[in-house]
Amino acid sequence: MSKEFKRHRRLRSSTNMRALVRETKLTTDDLIYPIFVVEGNTVKKEVPSMPGVFQVSLDNLTEEMNELVRLGIRSVLLFGIPKEKDEVGSQAYCSTGIVQEALRQIKKEVPELITIADTCLCEYTSHGHCGVIHDGDVQNDESLKLHVKTAISQAEAGADIIAPSNMMDGFVAEIRKGLDEAGYAHIPIMSYAVKYASAFYGPFRDAAESTPQFGDRKTYQMDPSNRREALREAQSDIDEGADFLIVKPALSYLDIMREVKDRFDVPVVAYNVSGEYSMVKAAALNGWVDEKQIVLEKLTSMKRAGADIIVTYHAKDVAKWLSE
Ligand SMILES: [Zn+2]
Repeated sequence: MSKEFKRHRRLRSSTNMRALVRETKLTTDDLIYPIFVVEGNTVKKEVPSMPGVFQVSLDNLTEEMNELVRLGIRSVLLFGIPKEKDEVGSQAYCSTGIVQEALRQIKKEVPELITIADTCLCEYTSHGHCGVIHDGDVQNDESLKLHVKTAISQAEAGADIIAPSNMMDGFVAEIRKGLDEAGYAHIPIMSYAVKYASAFYGPFRDAAESTPQFGDRKTYQMDPSNRREALREAQSDIDEGADFLIVKPALSYLDIMREVKDRFDVPVVAYNVSGEYSMVKAAALNGWVDEKQIVLEKLTSMKRAGADIIVTYHAKDVAKWLSE
């Protein structure tokens, strides 16, 4: 045999050898579990397009949170679904809003969990957009005032991390200033820095009941065709004081994740979005794919691409699989 070629298979010869040289490891510490909290009583309603994902009311929330702790999951991302929506999303920044109540309850009953509050208006506005509308368009600076109010009310209620997802220009700067002035300088901001206007959000809008009633979000979320724009967005958020950068969605944007990771030195968060979840679930329920293997492979690919942390609806399943 020629000695000219390399013997790469030497390092793949056994399970232990492969474990020894494995470059990327997925752990339960990496996971953030997103949850939809709804007003009302005794609600645990499965989202039709997201099998295994539920909207829960406050009386079922503590049990859900205890399950996360038992599984070793350390953090939860909260989305709220109010009974009443209005033009200006006032339930987003009401001190007795559903997310504020949920935060207080978790901090009291399951204090060890890290609570992350999604800061946006779209679940709370009657039109389903992420800000205030005038003449058919979302108003940037006027909306920012409401996002700042929302963030402060979430911090007051006990949020450990504020995660603004609204994609208005200047949202990190204004929220940072607002939190600092309100006495919350110690609360980090996990910015949805790079958020594309993606079709992969479809099932989430069922779950959060936040489908825009007119138009789309393309004037504030990013064009999926753009890479350099993602770096400009991330740079702005770093300059404005973001402590974490989220790339959303994850699976079709692994190239972006790698660039963000290489360029910035804060923790990078992959948001494994609803459509990415539902595609795997649907195929698995049909027996077309091996759910466990597919999910572990896809989350590992996000870490390999540079994610330090992954927001995923698969978190509970993954925690179980990793402990087997
Ligand atoms: Zn929004």
